[in-house]
Amino acid sequence: MDLEYSEEYQAFRQEVVRFIADHRHLAPGNVARRPGEDVGISWQKLLIEHGYAARTVPAEYGGFGAEPDILKSHIIAEEFARAKVRPGHSGDNRLVPTLLELGTEAQKKQFIPPTIRGEMSWCQGYSEPGSGSDLASLGTRAEVDGDDFVINGQKIWTSGAKTADMMFCLVRTEPDAPKHQGISYLLFPMDTPGIDVRPLLQMTGDAHFNEVFFTDVRVPTSSIVGKRGEGWFVANATLKHERGGLGDPHAAEARFHEIVELMQHETVDGMRLMDHAVYRDRLLKLQARMLSMKFNGMRVLTHSSRGEEAGLPRWIVKLMGCELNHQMAAMAIDLLGELGILYDASPYLRDGGIWQHRYMLDLGLIIGGGTAQIQKNMIGERALGLPKEPKVEGA
Ligand SMILES: Cc1cc2nc3c(=O)[nH]c(=O)nc-3n(C[C@H](O)[C@H](O)[C@H](O)COP(=O)(O)OP(=O)(O)OC[C@H]3O[C@@H](n4cnc5c(N)ncnc54)[C@H](O)[C@@H]3O)c2cc1C
Repeated sequence: MDLEYSEEYQAFRQEVVRFIADHRHLAPGNVARRPGEDVGISWQKLLIEHGYAARTVPAEYGGFGAEPDILKSHIIAEEFARAKVRPGHSGDNRLVPTLLELGTEAQKKQFIPPTIRGEMSWCQGYSEPGSGSDLASLGTRAEVDGDDFVINGQKIWTSGAKTADMMFCLVRTEPDAPKHQGISYLLFPMDTPGIDVRPLLQMTGDAHFNEVFFTDVRVPTSSIVGKRGEGWFVANATLKHERGGLGDPHAAEARFHEIVELMQHETVDGMRLMDHAVYRDRLLKLQARMLSMKFNGMRVLTHSSRGEEAGLPRWIVKLMGCELNHQMAAMAIDLLGELGILYDASPYLRDGGIWQHRYMLDLGLIIGGGTAQIQKNMIGERALGLPKEPKVEGA
């Protein structure tokens, strides 16, 4: 096995390293905010221009327009994580790839450019009370009236709905069809009359989640992605991209190095945490898991670069990656001792309380995008070929 990069890729890596060194002072978090300027948007624009964001999105939709090269994308992600500089995004990593795959030409032209520049934000209207893991049972209805769909119903746990400009939403358009076949996938602005967003307070103290109510909301029938009744297929394209992003091994590696730094600087009874046998033992166990995720990421990459479906290595990314991130945050909380249980605005918070925040948030990410139990079912049934879970009568 040869894990060395060819000369072409080594030269590309140098190019990325140089770009980061020359421009990192312009990244959000490293630059003072000036009135009227959105640093996130100008940073994203710069990254697109240089091919470090929206790299493979065609230029006609506002992207950089490079040929897909999975190794180059990997090198970019690796170097931005290593330098702890905020990477670019591909717009919305759930919606943009879905539109590129299944959207109409008009939808691609209208939505992809502002989304990849960060000027148009999206929320995901999938879950409903009683329809989370069993998403296909969703009941929000959309009936055709003239040139419009008229939507009535409710969504829940909609991240960012209060601030998003747009929603991609699953609705039931064929109530008499089998549940997976009666769903459609719609796009519409959040300021459409009849939409009522009510924030839900989370244990992090933020209100990032929302309930969203629809009362006679009219959206044009052209808002549909894919065909009527085929929204389940479209939704799964979105979820595939979302899950891949949630267990990112580069983020796990960057977080691991933050823990190493913490252990090198924090002390207990005058002794560096790094010199404590018990903590070092825990660190090594986490390092082993982090490295196994990193090498699993390389397996996924190898399959993708050959145009093959990765199978099991891809299926485990969301489950293992999210659990690992949470275990690392839990370790950091333990390392901080009594400081680890402080929250909110305590003057003794370390790193602005980031570890406490991550510890709470990461529990949620083990659930969001499909819970750990559902991921295990899918790994068992689809990747390992185990017998299907028995269906409960009447469910
Ligand atoms: C951080 C976060 C962000 C989210 N963002 C969004 C968003 O933007 N948009 C959106 O639409 N939704 C969002 N969600 C909702 C999320 O998709 C659902 O919470 C998730 O799918 C689970 O659904 P549920 O909450 O209804 O739980 P349920 O489906 O009721 O599950 C309850 C418990 O039963 C278990 N369970 C259920 N069925 C099975 C089974 N067949 N086998 C084994 N165990 C089972 C589950 O694993 C879970 O532990 C978000 C959730 C979180 C936590």
